[in-house]
Amino acid sequence: DVRVRFCPSPTGTPHVGMVRTALFNWAEARHAHGTFVFRIEDTDNVRDSEESYDQILDALDWLHLDWDEGVNVGGPDGPYKQSERGDIYRDVAKKLMDAGYAYESFSTPEEVQARNLAAGRPKEFGYDGFDRNLSEEQKATFRAQGRKPALRVKMPDEDIAFDDLIRGHIEFKAGSVPDYVIVRPNGDPLYTLTNPVDDALMRINVVLRGEDLLSSTPRQVVLYRYLVKLGIAQGMPQFGHLPYVMGKGNKKLSKRDPESNLFLHRENGFIPEGLLNYLALLGWSIAPDHDVFTMDEMVEKFDVRDVKANPAHFDIDKAVAINAEHIRMLDPQDFINRSVPYLQRDGVVSADSWESLDDDERRILTAAAPLVQSRVRLLGEVSGMVGSLLSKADYIEPEDDAKKQLKDSAADVLAKAIEVLEGVDEAAGDWEAESLHGLLDKALVEDGGYKPRLAYGPVRVALSGRRVSPPLFESMQIVGKEITLARLKGLAG
Ligand code: GLU
Repeated sequence: DVRVRFCPSPTGTPHVGMVRTALFNWAEARHAHGTFVFRIEDTDNVRDSEESYDQILDALDWLHLDWDEGVNVGGPDGPYKQSERGDIYRDVAKKLMDAGYAYESFSTPEEVQARNLAAGRPKEFGYDGFDRNLSEEQKATFRAQGRKPALRVKMPDEDIAFDDLIRGHIEFKAGSVPDYVIVRPNGDPLYTLTNPVDDALMRINVVLRGEDLLSSTPRQVVLYRYLVKLGIAQGMPQFGHLPYVMGKGNKKLSKRDPESNLFLHRENGFIPEGLLNYLALLGWSIAPDHDVFTMDEMVEKFDVRDVKANPAHFDIDKAVAINAEHIRMLDPQDFINRSVPYLQRDGVVSADSWESLDDDERRILTAAAPLVQSRVRLLGEVSGMVGSLLSKADYIEPEDDAKKQLKDSAADVLAKAIEVLEGVDEAAGDWEAESLHGLLDKALVEDGGYKPRLAYGPVRVALSGRRVSPPLFESMQIVGKEITLARLKGLAG
């Protein structure tokens, strides 16, 4: 039974690296019909926030990355917030100390540094093991001085090796990892303790996480060995360290980088299917030359052993292109429903759900959807495409690049178009895309002698205010004769 976990610390707003980690764990669990545990590592009072916690829940919910055990849903090994598990950590810490696997350390960082300096050890040399063998007397003296000890784990004097699911055999040389703190002098347990202890108690057997945590793995391997000896852990989990995600300029994508902000991608109109598909490609691929796939397909094929160790590159253009593919795959009504909140945000419709729109808005969106769905890459682009169709305005101020495109001939083109369109009998059903196309072709291109671009550019700009819009004749049909003519006249002046 594969048991994996996602255990973010609630600091800051969700970022794409975090979501990639959640996705790979989720896919590993679903592929193996295993268990996905969601735990919150909120032992850092200073940096953790309730707001960040809510945002992480919001993110997983939006992306439909569901978990089997954890916060909100419960499970056999709760509570699933580390801030509520203090007694457990205190108990384990005591057992580690009683067994001699951990010891009280009174040295201050300054003292450690001074000793290293005196012994001629390099700066980056960490803690020197000084307190390992303090006598009870020495400890009592320190206590009498008002010192409080941290708790440190004893690293064995041997190489530490493990087989990473992604990077293969990894070895840390004996002596390269100093004894490390698991409980602060004030009694607060640290990530170094809480993370492996919870993994053990929650019977996690596959740990997938970012490469940035690779340096903490030898420590956890050692702690795990002690936990096994104490009967707290059943065995060592397998580790898989997911490759770094690189941003622009071949630098690691930073949490502060706007491209890493999950909610910014949502605001721009990524849909979960598209974003997850792209994030899956950060280290994994489903098949050569096959970039677009669904989460069902990913679950069917995913195996963490296929993840590549070399850094992945976050390419926003590719992400957007993949999102466009997924938008095209939506059922048209689904596409509209998902677009409505964006339309409302942009002031284009009156409500944020399909159910609450008025009849006119629904009619226009239903008619426009097929024209728009294949032309947008992000849902945030829908407003610009349908805004002029939903508007009742008699004149639409052209956007700058649309204005630039208007040539001197525009006035003549518009006059000719107005003349022929005025004669169309809307009540008889003649105001219809195909026949409008035929009429304007004859008036402007055949008789007028204009190239299609010169003929239709001004009409498009008058109708939509934009250089790029949904198909022109369908748009004219949707807005109707009255508004079409008013806008052509409005631009003609
Ligand atoms: N709470 C840790 C983090 O957010 C989780 C590390 C791990 O997956 O072991 O970085």
